[in-house]
Amino acid sequence: MKITIHRGIDQIGGCITEIATDNSRILIDLGQNLPDGEGIVDDDLANREAIGKITQGIDAIFYTHYHGDHLGLFHYVPDNVPQYIGKVAKQVTLCKHRQLSYIKGRKKLSQEEISKLEKMSVLIPEQTINVRNIKVTPYFVSHSAYDAYMFLIEVDDKKVLHIGDFRGHGYLSKGLLPTIKKLILPRGKVDFLITEGTMLSRLGERVMSENELQREASQIMARYRNVFVMCSSTDMERLASFYAANKNLRNRPLICDRFQKNILEIFTQSAGNHTSLFRFDKVYDFNSKNTKLIHWMEDKGFCMFVRATDKFKDYYQTLVSRLEPKDTVLIYSMWKEYINDNGKHAIQRYIEFVSMFPNMEKLHTSGHASPEFLAEVCNLVNPTLGIIPIHSENSASYSKLPIEEHLQQRILTSSKTINKVEIKINQNI
Ligand SMILES: [Zn+2]
Ligand SMILES: [Zn+2]
Repeated sequence: MKITIHRGIDQIGGCITEIATDNSRILIDLGQNLPDGEGIVDDDLANREAIGKITQGIDAIFYTHYHGDHLGLFHYVPDNVPQYIGKVAKQVTLCKHRQLSYIKGRKKLSQEEISKLEKMSVLIPEQTINVRNIKVTPYFVSHSAYDAYMFLIEVDDKKVLHIGDFRGHGYLSKGLLPTIKKLILPRGKVDFLITEGTMLSRLGERVMSENELQREASQIMARYRNVFVMCSSTDMERLASFYAANKNLRNRPLICDRFQKNILEIFTQSAGNHTSLFRFDKVYDFNSKNTKLIHWMEDKGFCMFVRATDKFKDYYQTLVSRLEPKDTVLIYSMWKEYINDNGKHAIQRYIEFVSMFPNMEKLHTSGHASPEFLAEVCNLVNPTLGIIPIHSENSASYSKLPIEEHLQQRILTSSKTINKVEIKINQNI
């Protein structure tokens, strides 16, 4: 067996992992590098030729979840390579690309993306897919993207667990440790654990649970009548936190745009079947001509999901004369660095957008595992041969991870052959 980390060591995003045997090869994720503050993506692989090369001889591609840093290059993949993604993840991604097709000059590209997405096969949790002599089994994980998976990859007597992006403090996180204990470990010892380490460079940050966040959101909403919320439009758990907090205030309408409403409908019809927390059944899409809705918003206050786009600037301008500044707030529920003017991750569009509001409250918790939870998972999985850290700004920070001594020795950040398994780690592409 050969494990290749094409990309992902010492960088967050752009993840590509390959598992190969003598007669089969698969990829886990085919992610694009994250854009810089101006929205520009620097990615040598973001073209048909480069992806044609990297996917040559690949028998299947499995996506852990729908974030661009894991899925972003899917449309360059030739049609003869089967691609797999979660069923709901596929619906959400399709919805997003239909929305993107409205952007001027993007129609043709969107059509290609949509047709490629439509052809994708869907993963069924806990159901093994055989790709010749490689067995791949997806297990659900909680992340800031819904319908995300880790993969157990079995080749002869060797097992690799690729955990993708995950966290321990979400509403849907409770199942992770029991899944590892009851479903994965009984199949035999895991030899290699490939894991994310996003939060390792953010050591010392307090990690709030999604439940705590919901309570804090309620308190902010009790202080302000007119609440705008800027969060990821596809982060189901976060949307549920604000939806629930707003519901507690009674009679305040939950407003968004048509796109967000479509996404919420997908969540209601999937996760909403299992728990009422994800049932977004009273949501209104904003229209400046809907005077009845605007009067209701004026009368009772409201909660509106917004994004940093011209459309939402217009929505805000339509409403602003009716809003008392002291009663109006933007809850910023994304990573704080995006609006840190002096930082390298600053996004100008976000900074401008948030500056429009008379008040701002920051309320966010990470979609990624805290160092403590990461350590708990590593200790539990206790891989016999190696831990391969990806999705971290600096893989060396793994040495700070509070894991057992013998596991510390197994952290692999450079190429090596162990027990006939060749590990190839590309430092940079
Ligand atoms: Zn990621
Ligand atoms: Zn992600």
